[in-house]
Amino acid sequence: MKKGYLRLPGPTEIPEEVLLAMSKPMIGHRGKEFKEIFSSVSEEIKGVFQTQNDVLIFPGAGTGGLEAAIVNLFSPGDKVLLISVGVFGNRFGEIAERFHLDVEKIEFQWGKTFDLQIIKERIDKDKGGKIKGVIVTHNETSTGVLNDISSLKDVLRNHSALLIVDAVSSLGAVDLKTDEWGIDVVVTGSQKALMLPPGLTLISISPKGWDAVEKSQIPKYYWDFKKAKNNLIKGQTPYTPAISLIFGLKESLKLIYKEGLDNIFSRHILLSKAFREGIKCMGLTPFADDHCASPTVTAIKVPDGIEPSKLRKKMADEFRMDIAGGQQKLQDTIIRVGHMGYVDKLDIISTLWALGMTLEELGFGADITSAIKKAQQVLKKEG
Ligand code: PLP
Repeated sequence: MKKGYLRLPGPTEIPEEVLLAMSKPMIGHRGKEFKEIFSSVSEEIKGVFQTQNDVLIFPGAGTGGLEAAIVNLFSPGDKVLLISVGVFGNRFGEIAERFHLDVEKIEFQWGKTFDLQIIKERIDKDKGGKIKGVIVTHNETSTGVLNDISSLKDVLRNHSALLIVDAVSSLGAVDLKTDEWGIDVVVTGSQKALMLPPGLTLISISPKGWDAVEKSQIPKYYWDFKKAKNNLIKGQTPYTPAISLIFGLKESLKLIYKEGLDNIFSRHILLSKAFREGIKCMGLTPFADDHCASPTVTAIKVPDGIEPSKLRKKMADEFRMDIAGGQQKLQDTIIRVGHMGYVDKLDIISTLWALGMTLEELGFGADITSAIKKAQQVLKKEG
């Protein structure tokens, strides 16, 4: 039996329409057909970013998109304020350091969101405007925490720093108002809420961001924003694009607009709440605080005496359900379940059931019935 259930926080499951679109015969990327498709998806994707800004689409991983932001916006020695609440926040900082930026990191406890007051105090102190960029993760996939990006708008109101947001595991599932919230650069990836395979990174750039691009002194070739923009104007790319993924993106955008962004955001909030309440009833503890719980991924503390790797292996072997483990210092303490993109109520119920059954077999008395009942109640009451 091959049927599998992907409950990772990326890559995620892919709708059949998207899979079929990606299996279309190859076409030339310098021909009329590709130009039309590439121009139209590059316009249509702006709605998902909630922006009028340019959105550039590169073949690459989300990490590539983070690197692209650094090498295009800054110069060696530029000071940036990194707000980190976990692994991916830290990664963005490591990339900036690799390119010799002067990274000042404010790290908050994993499982918690940032403390706005601390950020405000630091920004207010920077009277001379030394800080060129504020870098932050929207949804910290390693801990299951959602940061409130909208709250940064006021903090940065009288400051010239660029606001750069890693929205790899949120864009398309969680509300992110790029223009309204004054975000200069948003980076995302294809393999999460956009319901595509890995392989694309998509980046929006504000006019203020483009000014910074003009001043940047870091060498770049593959990730050159200016080259990509000059090509995009002609419906082109600087080098061979991921053509099949662009076919898929066209189709996933159709599905996204058919459902409607607001409905998608509500669905993710509802499903994550049902899952979270379900696991609590099972006797488990979510890793992230309730008030900043991510709508796309839930990190769960693994009960004493159970090894996360064993639990994941058993769940994969017996139920063909893939969930993720903890990263770095959380490796031995948490598991992570993704619920983003192509997910529905039944996915939540089946995941609770498979998780409960696996825990039971490992000797943890999980109350599966109560968990499923509770999730049903949430889905019925608020769905
Ligand atoms: N940022 C966040 C928030 C992520 O969740 C991920 C991947 O999980 C990345 C960046 C890196 O993306 P990729 O693995 O595609 O390089």
